[in-house]
Amino acid sequence: MTLLWISTTNQNKLNEFRNILGDAIEIHSVGELNYYSAPPETGKTFEDNARIKAKTLKALRSGVWVVADDSGLEVEGLGGLPGVHSARYAGDKASDKENVAKLLKMLQIRSPVNRKAAMLCTLVAYAPGGTEHVIHGTIHGQISLTARGQTGFGYDPIFVPDGQDQTYAELGPAAKNQTSHRAQAIRELFRLMMDNVPQNS
Ligand code: IMP
Repeated sequence: MTLLWISTTNQNKLNEFRNILGDAIEIHSVGELNYYSAPPETGKTFEDNARIKAKTLKALRSGVWVVADDSGLEVEGLGGLPGVHSARYAGDKASDKENVAKLLKMLQIRSPVNRKAAMLCTLVAYAPGGTEHVIHGTIHGQISLTARGQTGFGYDPIFVPDGQDQTYAELGPAAKNQTSHRAQAIRELFRLMMDNVPQNS
């Protein structure tokens, strides 16, 4: 079976990979490597940061597929913030709840307010032979007035994808995995991996 090593310890992201790739791919994460230390995410773009994480993992796992995800939320009314700072918007060790609270507050103090937003995901993957693949996924939507729903992570309780009335946290994982930025990118990765399966495997 084709192996995929993923450079994340975020259980929610891992679950999304597992739910979408199902039994077709054997998934491992850096969480299994007790000597792994996450590199600083010093890039200016999602792609820079995904590449930093993917290269670190590639140095530890050769001859298999490796992938890193970097993702976040861009809000039009905040000039594209929090963007690459999504995980740390309310401070270095901020919780998802604190990040959401800060974002809602920053929008409240703007008038008129533009609540249009997009979730973006960039995957940088290396094939077993070392070829780099960069994949992007985007889902457009709106920021809700308040946090709603219990599922997911990050900004899911305040992100309403276009064409829906509920947030991703209300819609739940099955609906999120039909349309999300990450789901689009993971499906593209899957197509690439299937196109590159050696004939004798
Ligand atoms: P990363 O782990 O450095 O890529 O940071 C990702 C951050 O962006 C997360 O901590 C979340 O705050 C946010 N984010 C990324 N993807 C999602 C998603 O699917 N739903 C909600 N928030 C997300």
